Amino acid sequence: MSKKINVTIWNEFRHEKTDENVKNLYPNGIHGKIAEFLSECDDINVTLAALDDPYQGLPDEVLNNTDVLMWWGHMAHHEVDDALVERIRSRVYNKGMGFIALHSAHYSKPFQRIVGTSGNLSWGDDQKEIMWNLMPSHPIAAGIPDHIVLDVEELYAEPFAIPQPDELVFTSWFEHGFIFRSGCCYRRGAGKIFYFQPGHESCPSYHNPVIQQIIKNAVHWAVPNDFGYNVDFGCPWIPAIV
Ligand code: ZN
Repeated sequence: MSKKINVTIWNEFRHEKTDENVKNLYPNGIHGKIAEFLSECDDINVTLAALDDPYQGLPDEVLNNTDVLMWWGHMAHHEVDDALVERIRSRVYNKGMGFIALHSAHYSKPFQRIVGTSGNLSWGDDQKEIMWNLMPSHPIAAGIPDHIVLDVEELYAEPFAIPQPDELVFTSWFEHGFIFRSGCCYRRGAGKIFYFQPGHESCPSYHNPVIQQIIKNAVHWAVPNDFGYNVDFGCPWIPAIV
């Protein structure tokens, strides 16, 4: 049997403890909900991590065994330890760990540091969103219809202060006339990064089967290549090629 993909789902896990609506929508936490549907994939092993866990959920033995790290944070980005952020960045760049930034993780320290952006955007009231599939040929869009209607999501709007995505898989229209690049792929060092906008804590997007399929596809896309050698950028010497 081939090796399973080790996915660690990191969640700030604060809203679910303090807000009744969010608790009702995600009784086991947003990370618990994502774990539930990812576990439908036979080739995925899920580990849960939260900000208030020891070592902020990511001690070496967890991070160094993670193939794809998923990140949901919102109100406590500033509490995430800078040394941890550097360990995450290094694992993406040098070991090829995949990084999937969900929703408000556009402002998370790891996303800012890995991609090189402030993550600034505009936002507003919850409203209807239509997400358009721009790249049906992309692995993350496999099996996804040409558009997805979300009856209610938090408005995220352009301009979104990100570098041009290497691949722009989804873009969204919002009911009040705004647009937003909602599914963006990057490559940094040896790693692959996907930013995916739906997932406000008081909206049911992670219950939507199409959103779930996109996240499953993103995990499979973000798996590190089997380099067969240590991709360590900044190697102090160059070995002979022949
Ligand atoms: Zn939000």
